[in-house]
Amino acid sequence: MIETANLSKHFGLIRAVDGIDLNVREGEVLALLGPNGAGKTTTVRMLAAILRPTAGWARIAGLDTVREARQVRRIVGLLTEAPGLYSRMRALEYLDFFGQLHRLSPAQRTIRSEHLLRRFDLWDARYQRLGEYSKGMRQKLALVRAMLHDPLVLFLDEPTSAMDPYSARQVREAILELRREKRTIILCTHNLGEAETLADRIAIIRRGRIAALGSVPELKRRLLGDPLFELRLGTSLDGLLPLLEDLVQLREYGDNWVRYTTQTPEMVNPRLMQRLIEHGAPVITLSEVPRNLEEVYLRIVNEVQSDAA
Ligand code: ATP
Repeated sequence: MIETANLSKHFGLIRAVDGIDLNVREGEVLALLGPNGAGKTTTVRMLAAILRPTAGWARIAGLDTVREARQVRRIVGLLTEAPGLYSRMRALEYLDFFGQLHRLSPAQRTIRSEHLLRRFDLWDARYQRLGEYSKGMRQKLALVRAMLHDPLVLFLDEPTSAMDPYSARQVREAILELRREKRTIILCTHNLGEAETLADRIAIIRRGRIAALGSVPELKRRLLGDPLFELRLGTSLDGLLPLLEDLVQLREYGDNWVRYTTQTPEMVNPRLMQRLIEHGAPVITLSEVPRNLEEVYLRIVNEVQSDAA
């Protein structure tokens, strides 16, 4: 659904985006992560056909974002970081205006606006001027505007950054629902938990390039190594370590616990349990030690810092 090759944007000497190759399939949610100034917003603006690449190309549903920019804009929705709202307009008028730009019929405009305003709890504020909206309300309205024409592809640049926890959850639920409806979504976010919950794959961007791309389990394995397990016994480990050594790589241990890694936990862990039971060792717990996306992210970002040093 989204395809790019060597997609690049230079502003004078600044290489904001520097050769991005991407393939996002229909119904996929891809999260773009990366430090401030890494090039996420610039990438999204090129994909949404509102910024022309310096080099390379992008296609949305097979349409070229430069030569077929108009058609692209018709099938994509964009929520930008700092949505420019028309402060004197009221929410309904505002949506009606954008509905007209998208060539929706009056009936479609009324139905879609009401449905979406209700869904994001803005219906009661439909006659309020946008200048009087709070930051979070503005962001929700910008999302409503991005969804108004029921686009196939949505670019959401930090969609929950100004929202209270309840509203942020509403937006996350909306994103999951859109994914079930096979909409394709690119989500720029600094909220790693949000990326981990919502995204099928994650691309970490640094200095305008993709530094890492994959699903969360893939990235964890690639950057943090094999999964780590912790075994706790109801007795001392004395004399039992040799039972484990030929099956797993021991990392650290105490009197009654051990942490180890293995490439093939689905084969190794049952064998290991069987051995311990045969030796009468009381196993209290065997669990994977959770490693979060933050560790992966920081590793990539720290590489940047050491590259720059
Ligand atoms: P953030 O996480 O802070 O939103 P980002 O990853 O979205 O950052 P971009 O906004 O894409 O980053 O910016 C990438 C780089 O391009 C930055 O160095 C920025 O200063 C530069 N840049 C972006 N837009 C312009 C512009 N219109 N003119 C000149 N430089 C620009």
